[in-house]
Amino acid sequence: MQQYQVDADALNGKIILVTGAGDGIGKQAAISYAEHGATVVLLGRTVAKLEATYDEIVALGAPQPAIIPLDLQGATEKHYEDMASTIESTLGRLDAVLHSAGELGVLSTIEQTDLESFEKVMKVNVTSHFMMTKALLPLIKKSEQGRIVFTSSSVGKKGRAFWSAYAISKFATEGLMQTLADEMSNTRVRVNCINPGATRTAMRARAYPAEETEQLKTPLDLMPLYLYLMSDQSADINGQSIDAQPK
Ligand code: NDP
Repeated sequence: MQQYQVDADALNGKIILVTGAGDGIGKQAAISYAEHGATVVLLGRTVAKLEATYDEIVALGAPQPAIIPLDLQGATEKHYEDMASTIESTLGRLDAVLHSAGELGVLSTIEQTDLESFEKVMKVNVTSHFMMTKALLPLIKKSEQGRIVFTSSSVGKKGRAFWSAYAISKFATEGLMQTLADEMSNTRVRVNCINPGATRTAMRARAYPAEETEQLKTPLDLMPLYLYLMSDQSADINGQSIDAQPK
C-alpha cells in the first residue's frame, strides 16, 4: 500500500457519495474521505447506521456530511434522478462516487439458485449501480477531477462454485466499469474497480461463518487505495480493477 499514500488534505473541498456508508468498508471509506477533507454523502438503507457514521464524522471535526436513506433493492430510475437533482441543488456539485453497497445473496449452486434471489442480487449489485451512475454522470462530468469507484471481488474475476448470483454480479460490475471507463477516457472522469479481498466485515462473516477473523484485514487497512483512487493523484488510472490485497 506504500505506493498509495496521499496527503492529509488530499480530498479537501471534494464532494463524494458513498453507498453502503452505514457499515463495513463503505462506512470506513466515508470516515476516511471526510478525515481527508471531503464532504461525504452517506447513502444506505438503515438510517440508524448512517446516523452513527454521521456522528463519528462530526465528532472528528470533519466537514458535515449529508445522509440519503435509500434501499437499492426498491429504488427506481426516478429515485436516482431526484437524488441527482437534490445533490445539485443542496451541495452544488458532485465529484465522486464510491459504490460499496453490496448484497451477498444465497450461496448455492447455479442449479439451486432460484430466480427471485438471483434477481435480488442483480438489482442491488448491478442494476442499481447502472441506474445511479447514469443519473449522477452529468454532475460528475462537471467536476474538475471526477471519480467513480466500483467494488468488485475475486469471484468477479474467476468464477467459483457456490458463489452463484454474487459472482455473476461482480463480473457484471467489472464490465460496467470497463465500458464506462472507455467512454470516459477523453474526459476528466476516471472509473475504476477495487477488489477489497478478504476483509473483516459483516458480509465476510456471513459468507464464512466459521472463520477466525483476527487474521483478516480490517476496512481501515484498505484505505490507502480507497483514498488514492479518489484523489487527484490517480488522474492516470482509468479502467483498472485493483486488488486492495495483492497476493
Ligand atoms: P457489509 O455487509 O459490511 O456492508 C454493506 C453495506 O451495504 C451495508 O451498509 C448495507 O446496508 C449496504 N447495503 C446492502 N444492501 C443494500 C441495499 N439494498 N440498499 C442500500 N444499502 C445496502 O459489506 P462489506 O463492507 O464487506 O462490503 C462492501 C463491498 O465490498 C460489497 O460490494 C462487497 O461485495 C465487497 N466485497 C467485500 C469483501 C469482504 O471480504 N468484506 C470481499 C470482496 C468484495 P445495511 O447496513 O443496512 O445492511
